[in-house]
Amino acid sequence: MSVYLDNAATTKPCEPAVSAVFQNMVEDFGNPSSLHKMGLSAENNMTDARKAIAAALVCDPKCITFTSGATEANNTIILGAAKNYGKRNRKKIVVSAIEHPSVAEPIKYLEDSGEYTVVRIMSDRNGVIDPDDFIKAVDNDTFLVSCMLVNNETGAINPVKKIFSYVKRNFPECITHCDAVQGFMKIPIKSADIFADTIVVSGHKVHAVKGVGAMFIKNGVRIAPLVHGGGQEKGLRSGTEAVPLIAGFGAAVRALMGTMKTAYSNAETINAYLVKSLSKLDFVKINSKQENNSPYILNFSVEGIRSEIMLHYLESKEIYVSSGSACSKGAHSSVLTAMGISDKLADSAIRVSICRTTTVGEIDVLVNAIRDGYANLAKTK
Ligand code: PMP
Repeated sequence: MSVYLDNAATTKPCEPAVSAVFQNMVEDFGNPSSLHKMGLSAENNMTDARKAIAAALVCDPKCITFTSGATEANNTIILGAAKNYGKRNRKKIVVSAIEHPSVAEPIKYLEDSGEYTVVRIMSDRNGVIDPDDFIKAVDNDTFLVSCMLVNNETGAINPVKKIFSYVKRNFPECITHCDAVQGFMKIPIKSADIFADTIVVSGHKVHAVKGVGAMFIKNGVRIAPLVHGGGQEKGLRSGTEAVPLIAGFGAAVRALMGTMKTAYSNAETINAYLVKSLSKLDFVKINSKQENNSPYILNFSVEGIRSEIMLHYLESKEIYVSSGSACSKGAHSSVLTAMGISDKLADSAIRVSICRTTTVGEIDVLVNAIRDGYANLAKTK
């Protein structure tokens, strides 16, 4: 039996998502821009998906635009906001230092152009952004602030609402952007409640398929498109829409909608069990914050064993985890460094990310394998 504990990297598509993808490939395969019945069916299926994402973010479906994923959505919003709002004397961006590369890199791209200044706010020792530090950096020159909801490496939940409400109250012109990929369908996100002008989510993190994401753009906020062409998605994202993937995304969201609360408390139980089991191993050090963290992600270090070595040991037992973050591909984690974790411990960091179907039995399999792996690998060092 394999044990998949890398859900922050991607999740297994759920049955309703797979069925919807299939249906939109074999039956409703029309182009939503076509004026005939086939086009209309595809268009209707997209409308249903848009409504599902909007219901989950508690917003008007008109505010939802589909993209190829969160990376494209983050790029569109950041570069599109810079184009329309980063003008004359408003050239400053304030961003957390623990963002995913799909936020950090387009911001660095703007900085490297020499036209914009960027202030990066470090996290505290728990991996959380201090709202006061963030707020202090925002001023009249700032046109964009960006802070992720849940960090993908540690599961730290940032006080986005506190930061954004302050920014919107004092600098209403400033765009507030939130990468909510790791929080979506896990913790309730009401777009208006967190004072976000723009929010980004991804399909494959919520049991839909890869290659689809969505951006919420509040009414009145003007984001310049990145992709120009046939004017699909109200001109914000040209190109024939990936209807099967979009329909699958909608189906997955609908399937998860009613049970977020129970899933969250299950995840808390599994996370607590994992922490308790790991705490019996004196060579394991937990890096994730213990309270108010996303229960879906736990980051810890196995002292003296490099991440990749443990990862491949676990893989040989058909247990799948991640080293720090899947996107960092073995590079030093800036998130763990920002938390004051030594390079040595960061080098042995493992990220376990669970989903709503993870069981206590699977956690036992993992923890036993870590214990055995440590005994074997420490001997061969
Ligand atoms: N933001 C965060 C926080 C993520 O974890 C990821 C996926 N690793 C992304 C953005 C990018 O998502 P996608 O794969 O849909 O481009």
